[in-house]
Amino acid sequence: MDDYRHICPRCLFRDMDEKARAELKTYLDKIKEPDRADTDVYEKRLSICKSCEKLHEATCDACGCYVEFRAYSRHSHCPLKKW
Ligand code: SF4
Repeated sequence: MDDYRHICPRCLFRDMDEKARAELKTYLDKIKEPDRADTDVYEKRLSICKSCEKLHEATCDACGCYVEFRAYSRHSHCPLKKW
């Protein structure tokens, strides 16, 4: 995912434009239903990422992952053990 306008360092893909949101959905849909985090867990994880100094344009600088993708996976974890 790149070439999006109006990107800010603290943005997640869902905060960006329609193209970014559509591409995010494509990524998230690849995770099978049983492997997805519950919605409240997902939102809690993303709220932590949003206030983290490692978040940069929807990507975690500690691991290189798109944080929304990482947070959506039930068994995933933060590389800095923040969630
Ligand atoms: S996954 Fe962890 S280190 Fe990366 S942005 Fe989120 S809270 Fe920060």
